[in-house]
Amino acid sequence: MSKYFSERFASLKPYTPGEQPRDRQYVKLNTNESPFPPCAEALSYAAEHARSYELYSDPEAVELRQALAERYQVTPDCVMATSGSDEALDFAFVAFGSDARPALFPDITYGFYRVYANINRIPFREIPLEDDLTISLDRYAGQKAVIFLANPNAPTGIFLPPERIADLARRSPDSVIVVDEAYVDFGGESCVPLTQRYKNILVIQTFSKSRSLAGARLGFCIGCPELIRDLQTVRYSLNPYNVNSFTQALGIGMLRCEDTVRARCRTIMENRAYLTEQLKALGFSCTDSLANFVFARHLRLNGGALYQMLRDRGVLVRHFDGSRIRQYNRITVGTKEQIDCLLAAIRDIMGSL
Ligand code: PMP
Repeated sequence: MSKYFSERFASLKPYTPGEQPRDRQYVKLNTNESPFPPCAEALSYAAEHARSYELYSDPEAVELRQALAERYQVTPDCVMATSGSDEALDFAFVAFGSDARPALFPDITYGFYRVYANINRIPFREIPLEDDLTISLDRYAGQKAVIFLANPNAPTGIFLPPERIADLARRSPDSVIVVDEAYVDFGGESCVPLTQRYKNILVIQTFSKSRSLAGARLGFCIGCPELIRDLQTVRYSLNPYNVNSFTQALGIGMLRCEDTVRARCRTIMENRAYLTEQLKALGFSCTDSLANFVFARHLRLNGGALYQMLRDRGVLVRHFDGSRIRQYNRITVGTKEQIDCLLAAIRDIMGSL
């Protein structure tokens, strides 16, 4: 730390992203990316249609928002585009969190919520998951808060049906409920339709998972026009050209390939079933994941040791050191070939013990 670093951040613990190592080729199942590349049609659409690079990108992302509005059957004033959904989450903390409206989120969830609360100095409470790692919404209801719910949750993959979130919204008229649907396309059901009925539900989604654009950084929020206007005020105060021209066009390009995206999601869901079944046969237990990852623990193998032994064999998964989940590893659902490499490595490890 330099002597100039603000004392406000002296104790800030930044988010730790999953490894992106370059020392060797890994079977990379640690950051929930898509195993499929962006569609060729989307790339050529972007090459042809991206606004000229000597100009700033469109700060309103008009065409992209129009395309998103059509896809999700809302009006464009219900949509805002962001640089990855992380930025949308940050903006939501800034726009809706305050001393009077603290943030609430589960103790086991996406690690960035705590970081955004800290850096924006928003008081927060982490609500423990139940013993079976599910979320009990009763613990969140009836307060004045900004509630962050990843749905499906990460890293458990456990999904809450939209009617439960609608019920929370009805019971919590003084709270904003931010539903982070990064993983919703792999078998969950979106809360987007609820945003048209509940003025306190904001949905955040990303192009990083089902739409293969993790490296292009594209996310978006959908909510009632009033919530979106608040977020636009924050965005214009922090980063008006937040989504670059190529990414805006690439997002439109991927929205033109929805059939391929859906087919790929179905493949991931089939592969998830295969991976889960094979892991169970090897003595693992898995949470009921509706995401593009599984969360698995072995009754005899230590979670951290397994992570390391897989890494030594060229397979990367994600291990978190929280006390209640230390025994688990989160494994991205990749292609069948990647899954078979992982399973072979696990069998090798079990044979060597
Ligand atoms: N929400 C959750 C639950 C995530 O796991 C991630 C991915 N790390 C994100 C949001 C952010 O994804 P991105 O910024 O790539 O859209």
